[in-house]
Amino acid sequence: MERGTKWGIFVLFFIGIWLSLSVSLAAEPKTVRVGCMAESSFIRQYANGSYYGYGVEYLEKIAEYTGWEYEYVQGDFAGLWEMLEKGEIDLLCVLQRTEEREKTFLFSECPAGWEYSSLYVREEDSIDYEDFEAFEGMRIGFLEGFQSNLDFIGYAGRSGFQYIACSYQTAEEMNAALERGEVDAVTRTSLLLDRGQRLVARYAAAPFYFSSGKQNAELIAEINAAQRQIRLETPYFEEELQEKYDPDLADHTLTLAEGEYVQNAPVIRVGYSGDLDPVSYEQDGEMMGVSREMFRHISDKTGLQFSFLQYNTPGAAMNAAISGNVDMVACIETRNLNVQELSLTEPYFEVPLVMVAKNDTDMEGTIRIALRGADRELEDYIARVFEEYELCYYQTPDECLDAVWHGDAEFALENSFLVSSATRKSRYAGLQVNMVVDYNTRICIGVNREKDDLLLGILNKTLQSVTNSGRTQMVAHALAKKRTELSWAEMLADHMDELIIVFLCGAIVFLIIGRRVKQKKERILEQMAYYDELTGMRKQEKFQLDLERALRTNPQRKYALLYLNIDRFQYLNTVLRREKSDEMIDLLGRLINRSLWQGELSGRLYADHFILLYEYRGRSELLERFEKLQHSLWESMSEREVSYKVVLHAGIYLVEGAEERCEDLVYRAMLANQMCQGGIESYFFDEYLEEKLHKELKIESMMEEALGKDEFKTFFQPKYSTDGEGIIGAEALVRWIREDGSIVYPNDFIPLFERNGFILQLDYYMYQKVLEWLRSRLDRQEPVIRISVNLSRLHNGDTNMGMRLSEMAIEYGIPPELIEFELTESAFTDHADNILEQLGYLRERGFSISIDDFGAGYSSLNLLRSVPADILKIDKAFLDETEDSERSSFIIRDIVAMAKDIHMEVICEGVETAEQLAFLREIRCDYAQGYYFSRPLPESRFEEILMERSSV
Ligand code: C2E
Ligand code: CA
Ligand code: CA
Repeated sequence: MERGTKWGIFVLFFIGIWLSLSVSLAAEPKTVRVGCMAESSFIRQYANGSYYGYGVEYLEKIAEYTGWEYEYVQGDFAGLWEMLEKGEIDLLCVLQRTEEREKTFLFSECPAGWEYSSLYVREEDSIDYEDFEAFEGMRIGFLEGFQSNLDFIGYAGRSGFQYIACSYQTAEEMNAALERGEVDAVTRTSLLLDRGQRLVARYAAAPFYFSSGKQNAELIAEINAAQRQIRLETPYFEEELQEKYDPDLADHTLTLAEGEYVQNAPVIRVGYSGDLDPVSYEQDGEMMGVSREMFRHISDKTGLQFSFLQYNTPGAAMNAAISGNVDMVACIETRNLNVQELSLTEPYFEVPLVMVAKNDTDMEGTIRIALRGADRELEDYIARVFEEYELCYYQTPDECLDAVWHGDAEFALENSFLVSSATRKSRYAGLQVNMVVDYNTRICIGVNREKDDLLLGILNKTLQSVTNSGRTQMVAHALAKKRTELSWAEMLADHMDELIIVFLCGAIVFLIIGRRVKQKKERILEQMAYYDELTGMRKQEKFQLDLERALRTNPQRKYALLYLNIDRFQYLNTVLRREKSDEMIDLLGRLINRSLWQGELSGRLYADHFILLYEYRGRSELLERFEKLQHSLWESMSEREVSYKVVLHAGIYLVEGAEERCEDLVYRAMLANQMCQGGIESYFFDEYLEEKLHKELKIESMMEEALGKDEFKTFFQPKYSTDGEGIIGAEALVRWIREDGSIVYPNDFIPLFERNGFILQLDYYMYQKVLEWLRSRLDRQEPVIRISVNLSRLHNGDTNMGMRLSEMAIEYGIPPELIEFELTESAFTDHADNILEQLGYLRERGFSISIDDFGAGYSSLNLLRSVPADILKIDKAFLDETEDSERSSFIIRDIVAMAKDIHMEVICEGVETAEQLAFLREIRCDYAQGYYFSRPLPESRFEEILMERSSV
């Protein structure tokens, strides 16, 4: 009871806030010119000149928040359209929203209403609603160019009648034709003025919006704000307007056959459970509750007669309906959908689930959840949300709560409607609703399968016609009839929960809107963090989580991991337009998903790199499945007229046990993938790779010590100007010199360090070495030159990077002009906002930024515009002789031209021959780096070169 009162106060409190907000909004009155269409029923004019109608009431409601006054401007559709475009009127309220129209107009977020496309006949014609036999062969009038004409074609096709179409330019002409008998029926939308015609079918519905010219963004923003508040304060406002102004909506529109069925139907026997208070319960031998109210409504609307029989549990009532002891059961929750033996109606209530627990429940470890009945959908939901749990099944809501009460379960997941009644019982005093779960159950009627389909149709039609406000009334009635010794005030307070839940039933619930929005936001964030935007597939992290779960829950199954990518994707990516390669990735993603069997997984790691978990039943079957995937890709590509033959590579790792870390499993498949080259399209992880892994493990065990022992050395590779002006800078590259003097090259340890995170330390270490080196040279007044330092993409999530790098330079007294940071384009694919911010920070302070390995990955020229970089470093692969050199040279030419366009400098790496240099000079690439000039040099050797240069 206490809780109810508290909620009540909250409600009032919020209403108070909204009201004061709206008052403050209404400071300056402004006159808004509203277009008013002669043939539309949305805004109409009385003979005395004043205006009325759905539109007028809606606009007045908006004025309560905005303080606007209105001037109505009459005109026809085309005229008003033009005036809106020119800004001669401010608002039109009846436009449907299309992409094309959005180019010219602004639209409100929420619809102003719904427009129904309907079929009308003359009032006096004896044609019933959906009287398809009568529709057969009719001449039907259409308005030219109406979108909904297509809907009608579909409707006629589905309903199986043929007709003769006659088209008209204006509604006027069409209506006149109906009156003259030239056509038998006309199609129009509910927005057009009613001409005393009778509705015989409704076949489509579409929302329309408030719209304004592009110059009026503020006006639309105000409407959006007002609409949001209307929804909060008067949730059923639009529906009530609709009911009031749409006479057809209230019509009971039974078809001929349905009408006959009702006439001849005997009293229908309905079973209900006596312990589902407040949905259904027994009082003085009669059925009471919300369900009862719904049946009363059905009776009123259709004329069907019902008698009610009570059963002790929901299960017993359901079984009675299945066996035919009764014709239907009053309340079935759709989460009991495994009830195949009954036909279910549309839901008539939608209620969220709540978690009920004891006040002091400890939620650590395995959680036992009490549920009523087995329910696949709910179980799936639970599996998504909870980590470790166990399900316990009971018959009735009370039994579930008892289980929680006795400590047999940590909490119960139960329909909030039922819980609100049950928890008021004194024996559940220590139980508490701890949260509303983001999962709704829907309550519907379950009809015995033997019953005529017509009955189901009648019930559905009636249930659908109940508006949210109608539903609210039903709940209020049901509660008012509940026997109680309490005073009215007490009873109201007592039933606050139910009243609130009535609100919960509607889609627009302001009390939980905050929570919903938050949940939605969290879900969106989760979606972004876990799922790839382009293909909708899992990202690496999510794949690993699900992989772990799959291996844990199915230890008996054998699996293989396939690491897939596209051979020479970077070429393809640069040759094709970005949209094209996106399309290809998307296509491949879909084909991969289609290839999956039950319980298998897929994910996209980045660019063209996919990871798949296939069930393993032998190598040949795996290879067959892989080939099939390859062929389906070729087929789809040729359908899209892509001539390039896309070759897939698969690295395969046969998963042996779940004891390895999931990222290591994926890594093994990746290592196998790297073995695919020169015609090898698939490769199974083998001893050779095992050996390689072993070496890596050894490296991993030594790396920290090596850093302490100063074994990582800086080598410098000079960069040259292409026009012969000599060295312009150098890149610092790491070399691991072991105690025995052997050199380990970065390719043997950088990928490993990127996986285990050690690269972050190493990068700062290298940077510090470079700063020290520059400092010592400056101190000795020896010549210096700009040095570039590589930063791994792993830094991209570091929000402190810019400041730290900048402070280190200050500490050593090194001017930022002497430092350049190289980042590969892959650094910009995740957490891009942060890395862009960090680089912006560094650049503002005078450091240079270059994009390394440009073209190697999945970047586009568009990237160039968004990244605050000064220099573009073209990947060495473009100069690789073995690649299609003509194509490559075109690409380099384009990249250079493009970079120049946006004032970036360009350097090409991997230059090995004089011809390559000549080519770069010709296309006006600024700088070059490569073995042709110099290999990466140890410190001492590089210093000599610098000295030589300064002495020239
Ligand atoms: P990168 O940044 O693209 O560096 C260029 C690589 O190309 C260097 O390999 C260099 O020795 C090599 N190279 C230079 N000129 C030529 C040429 O004309 N032909 C050929 N075929 N290769 C040439 P290196 O030093 O083995 O480094 C490999 C990669 O390791 C680097 O590629 C970089 O991604 C990474 N790396 C090296 N040092 C560091 C570091 O301190 N931090 C980070 N994060 N990565 C580093
Ligand atoms: Ca580099
Ligand atoms: Ca590079």
